[in-house]
Amino acid sequence: VHGGMLDEAHWPLEYPKCGGRRQSPIDLQMKKVQYNPSLRALNLTGYGLWHGEFPVTNNGHTVQISLPSTMSMTTSDGTQYLAKQMHFHWGGASSEISGSEHTVDGMRYVIEIHVVHYNSKYNSYEEAQKEPDGLAVLAALVEVKDYTENAYYSKFISHLEDIRYAGQSTVLRGLDIEDMLPGDLRYYYSYLGSLTTPPCTENVHWFVVADTVKLSKTQVEKLENSLLNHQNKTIQNDYRRTQPLNHRVVEANFMSRPHQEYTLASKLHFYLNNIDQTLEYLRRFIEQKIPKRKKQENWP
Ligand SMILES: [Zn+2]
Repeated sequence: VHGGMLDEAHWPLEYPKCGGRRQSPIDLQMKKVQYNPSLRALNLTGYGLWHGEFPVTNNGHTVQISLPSTMSMTTSDGTQYLAKQMHFHWGGASSEISGSEHTVDGMRYVIEIHVVHYNSKYNSYEEAQKEPDGLAVLAALVEVKDYTENAYYSKFISHLEDIRYAGQSTVLRGLDIEDMLPGDLRYYYSYLGSLTTPPCTENVHWFVVADTVKLSKTQVEKLENSLLNHQNKTIQNDYRRTQPLNHRVVEANFMSRPHQEYTLASKLHFYLNNIDQTLEYLRRFIEQKIPKRKKQENWP
């Protein structure tokens, strides 16, 4: 559909919904999140090791794993959603660029995983995608854990080279999707949003899991550098910028972020980055001042 990927700022011209009032992704700001302890854990069925076939495709924008509809997710309000596909968003355009779509208190994570589902009250994804309560996405954020390969991703990542070119597909067997997701699915953010790519339909119930997936630096770099788009350029930075909240409420069933021990390193990285930028600003400010003072000293 998109010959050359339209610049996202121009999406609304061709897809009016992309300029709507409940768009995704968003920045999840802890101080604005509404605590709702009655949100129960997401209930995943059939996500464990399955020996059937998983078609995996490079669609020119991302790598997508087709999922069998025997996988289903039941949300806190009892709605059952059937799995359709999972795909990834990443950065990588320069070595330190992260590529998650949702940010948490302004912090962008290295990768974001989307598991796309449709409401089981509809007969198919194609039917559900047109309905206002049609879709749900389970999103998970990825952090780098140096030198620790995540074995649950080994098979998937090693087969990326089979689908280097846009349009190529392969088939994997025996994936454990549950193990490719965060270990703790009890805690999450929940809000109403949209697809993050055109047509940006505003019918997605988002569930962003608080716990993260850990991948090694090598695994992250493989995902960032293995796939080419339709122009034979490496697919990188395939994330949409965060969108205005516009009076929507983001709920969460936790008060402060659990699993702080995992995020401490990346938080520290975020704060050090801020300090670096402030120091750079100060350095330029001082450099501008010093010549002036010298001139003043030279005054008779
Ligand atoms: Zn996505």
